[in-house]
Amino acid sequence: MSADTDTIFALSSGRPPAAIAVVRISGPRAGDALRALMGRLPAPRQAALARLRDPASGEIIDEALALWFPGPNSETGEDTAELQVHGGRAVIAGVLAALSQIEGLRPAEAGEFTRRAFENGKLDLTAVEGLADLIGAETQAQRRQAFRQMKGLLGDKAESWRKRLIEACALVEARIDFSDEADVPENLVAPAIIAAQQLRNEIAEALAGAARGERLRDGLVVAIAGPPNAGKSTLLNRIAKREAAIVSPTPGTTRDVIEVHLDLNGYPLTLLDTAGIRDSADPVEQEGVRRARDRAAAADLVLWVVDAAELPVSPPSPAAWVVFNKIDSMNSNYEGNIVGTRDIHVFKLSALTGQDVNSLIEALTHYAKNTLGGEPALVSRERHRRFLTDTQTALDRAIVEGPAGREDIIAEELRLAARALGRLTGRVDVEDLLNVIFRDFCIGK
Ligand code: GDP
Repeated sequence: MSADTDTIFALSSGRPPAAIAVVRISGPRAGDALRALMGRLPAPRQAALARLRDPASGEIIDEALALWFPGPNSETGEDTAELQVHGGRAVIAGVLAALSQIEGLRPAEAGEFTRRAFENGKLDLTAVEGLADLIGAETQAQRRQAFRQMKGLLGDKAESWRKRLIEACALVEARIDFSDEADVPENLVAPAIIAAQQLRNEIAEALAGAARGERLRDGLVVAIAGPPNAGKSTLLNRIAKREAAIVSPTPGTTRDVIEVHLDLNGYPLTLLDTAGIRDSADPVEQEGVRRARDRAAAADLVLWVVDAAELPVSPPSPAAWVVFNKIDSMNSNYEGNIVGTRDIHVFKLSALTGQDVNSLIEALTHYAKNTLGGEPALVSRERHRRFLTDTQTALDRAIVEGPAGREDIIAEELRLAARALGRLTGRVDVEDLLNVIFRDFCIGK
């Protein structure tokens, strides 16, 4: 990184006030900034206690723990400093104001530290995405997947695939370039095609886990649906153990979709309370009904909640589980009424008293584990899937040519396949993608 790069700084810890706040500085003047504030440069990578002073007035702002990471062995690859100060608003404001007085320093933009790490080759794009997911992870299974990705589970794999493709491509190009020379073996194309087939299989395997990886990242979506007044909001509240939905004895008051994020043994599941689905003349309510139907239609699973006193019940889709609610007001020998029963999951419970709600939660936990658990998925985003599919399609076109195929076409397809993998890791030609990826980061990251 050249010396005329701006030096950036930002509050990297959460919203003040807090016990401690972390201010990070990265860039060629990070060392000067430390000298200006604390009068010296601490030993590299060792915590040093220091009084921070306003460089203009000399007034002490705070006592801090200072860390100095000379580049390139730092998170961004540049000279980096970290100040752990007391996490009060005025302390932070004082430190940031002092830093902004120093020439060559400016506040960082969202994601700028991470972007510098990417540009200095510290992280590839899949690792950057893993880092974003790690920060966003709400459950332990999401954290595990994000951490693996940040550490290169997909990036390293994609890079090794890309190297093998480049080698295969070189074989075919050697065949093209030296086809007249007697000492170039005839059979250079055949091994390239074999390599392409092997790669294709490995990529297909990675893609097979894509749906699971993407769902783990986003969380499973379970819609609670059913006629008005069946007790859907009451059930959602009961499960969430907090007042997330408005429970009302008047039908049709839950107009919007209310969602609750659940952590079921480490697996993420979002419960949606769809508006009491019924036809209505009220345009506001009609809109609520439409949105409820859309969300429920896109859900991984529907909990079809009915009042056990209503007879009989026809579940809307085979993917639905039927919940007979309000069994507290039924006879103890109540069986449940279903039309066309097959292997459908049926629960009889009381959202109001909590009776047997646990069996539903247990079933949801099993369902989440069965759907999301297992081998760690390599692919967790639509972006990954897109570039891997592009790679696969190009490989297919090369493979179709076969060992006796047109060499120029095979070489070109292998190049295209390698390029798609390069775009996945951010090694080639990704300027258009960068703003989209880094936009999701907060300032200070
Ligand atoms: P929604 O329109 O399906 O969301 O239904 P609500 O959750 O608003 O509940 C409608 C009414 O049924 C409220 O008066 C609830 O207190 C009542 N209710 C909900 N669950 C139960 C239950 O398990 N037993 C009984 N007895 N009443 C319930």
